[in-house]
Amino acid sequence: MVGIGPGSRDQITPRAERALRDAQAVVGYDTYLDLLGDLIRDKEIHRSQMREEIERCRLAVGLALTGKRVAVVSSGDPGVYGMAGPILEVLGERGLAVEIIPGVTAATAAAAAVGAPLNHDFAVISLSDLLTPWPVIEKRLAAAATGDFVTVLYNPRSKKRREQIVRAREIFLKCRKETTPVGIVKNVSRESEEVVITNLRKMCEHPVDMLTTVIIGNSQTFVLSSYMITPRGYRL
Ligand code: SAH
Repeated sequence: MVGIGPGSRDQITPRAERALRDAQAVVGYDTYLDLLGDLIRDKEIHRSQMREEIERCRLAVGLALTGKRVAVVSSGDPGVYGMAGPILEVLGERGLAVEIIPGVTAATAAAAAVGAPLNHDFAVISLSDLLTPWPVIEKRLAAAATGDFVTVLYNPRSKKRREQIVRAREIFLKCRKETTPVGIVKNVSRESEEVVITNLRKMCEHPVDMLTTVIIGNSQTFVLSSYMITPRGYRL
């Protein structure tokens, strides 16, 4: 299980790079494999599309059972809304050797692009209700908002799911000021990276899609120069 980070080659850890070089077969979603270019050129490559996660796991496990060294590629970290969980479940008790190689997840890559917004307690919530019922997501949003957690939203909006981010904003506005800083980072560390620092009042005026990570500050988060900062509590 190889986490390849958010996109750029220099955000792939040396350990992940070594695992990719050592692999005989590579399994992953199309776009991520394209990002790897020459690193995997001479491998047996199995490309798949989004939404084919379980077939991808079965394929990878099947290849490993034939004795091959298989790298299953996940963007960011493989254990954060990634393939590590389902792969381990599909493997079950078969006793194959597995290595889970962490990667830079979108939350920390996006945080670094806007400053230091995660410098105190934070929660990560996916707005995708494909696999999680929406009432559960709303409950978690409300809990994070009430608990004054800085909150990172993954999967904020797709072509079909347009209202979740609007609802998330309403939930946060019940306990946070309209001026609360919000960072919106699209395609972090890729060529088309876009970084916006806005606030809760205006957050839905900016384009947000499935390649975007949204960071809502807590009650202490502020903007200084062009950075979003959540204070740790030091006296400065
Ligand atoms: N395993 C991945 C997350 C997969 S969920 C990780 O650890 O990063 C997919 C969501 O991650 C996207 O909808 C988006 O919210 C976020 N994401 C992934 N790559 C991103 C990137 N390069 N820039 C901004 N957000 C990204």
